[in-house]
Amino acid sequence: MGNQASVEGPLPPVHNGAMARYSYSRLDTYASCPLKYKFQYLDRVKVDVGPSIEAFLGSRVHDALEWLYRQVQLGFTPSVDEVLAQYEEAWDAEWADNVRIVRRGMSADAYRRMGMQCLELYCSRHAPFAEGLVLGLEEPFSLNLGEGVELTGFIDRLMKRDGDIYEVHDYKTSGALPKPEEAARDVQAGMYALAVRSRFPHAREVRLVWHYLRFDERLITTRSPEELARLREETVHRIAEVERATEFPPQESALCAWCAYFGICPAKGHHLVLVALPENEHHGEPGIVLVDRLAKLKAELKETTARLAAEIAQVEEALVAYARDHGFAVVVGTEAEATITEEETLTLPGSGDADRVELEDRLRRLGLWESCASVSLDRVKKLVREGDLPEEARAEILALARVEPRATVRLRRRRPAE
Ligand code: SF4
Repeated sequence: MGNQASVEGPLPPVHNGAMARYSYSRLDTYASCPLKYKFQYLDRVKVDVGPSIEAFLGSRVHDALEWLYRQVQLGFTPSVDEVLAQYEEAWDAEWADNVRIVRRGMSADAYRRMGMQCLELYCSRHAPFAEGLVLGLEEPFSLNLGEGVELTGFIDRLMKRDGDIYEVHDYKTSGALPKPEEAARDVQAGMYALAVRSRFPHAREVRLVWHYLRFDERLITTRSPEELARLREETVHRIAEVERATEFPPQESALCAWCAYFGICPAKGHHLVLVALPENEHHGEPGIVLVDRLAKLKAELKETTARLAAEIAQVEEALVAYARDHGFAVVVGTEAEATITEEETLTLPGSGDADRVELEDRLRRLGLWESCASVSLDRVKKLVREGDLPEEARAEILALARVEPRATVRLRRRRPAE
């Protein structure tokens, strides 16, 4: 099963001249938070924070497995104790006090043991590690996707098995085990398959073997030529979108707690001010005072609007009944008068209704489409900002647009303290 998302339209040119080099993690960072992407890849901001302990643990486990398979390449079969000794030695050598532990109730020691357990499970399942020939460890790849785009990355372990079967092995120490159908759509795995297919065009099969070490589970998938062609096209489009981006808004999520840029993120700045302030001083803090006032006013507005709407509906109903009883079309008040008309209303299928497509077809067939359809300015704005418009077309539309600074305030339920 493959990724069913499709892309319409011709492939957009990405770069004028220089090749745009993108890895899976670069694209994934943009998708999860454009501002983090800007900090990391465009501005290359240096922050004085260490890696998260999850990243540290992942690196140490990867190092230990890389060491293991280097021994295998040299003709040795390391014991589980030797693998664990390597792991512990590297853990101690690399450990720094700025490694961040985000999850409450967890300790560095608990993570260290978690890594040991991953390796023990792995060794007991895979010893003597002789399933095929090791072609590369931390194997770099770069794949020209055309359209001025290059895809780069590192494969944890590249293997060859009998019958021209190639395997990409990737180690995961995350605490979430995807479902098989999610593994079959995994974009990172698909990109690795693209790279291996391009390097070994004669391969009979390219298997993607994702090791979920904490669960002692392997998820093995493959990609069809059609799926790979679609992924190639989608990747070029995604890269074109990132290359064209001019705005990089923060996108808050549960992952913010692990973000290295938390301390300089404008979406988190006020949180940090409050964390530094004693609880009893929160009350008078100007930001809190303003947001509380705005929230109260909006709540009052909502409640008043709903109450007035209900009252208006009641009075209108009474007026219609009064006018109908007396045969009046106009009822006069002290300072205003009300005109009452009764007529049948027409409701046509809206954009989400089942008959909408049929309605549009009929309008086209009857030659009425041009005179009935109107331009959706929101759609045009989206097209200019995010669509794959040729530059000349974008410039022509923008020549008619006014660009004005605008500040927007949106209220939402406060997130729990991070
Ligand atoms: S803290 Fe959250 S919103 Fe801010 S840059 Fe990091 S991921 Fe984005």
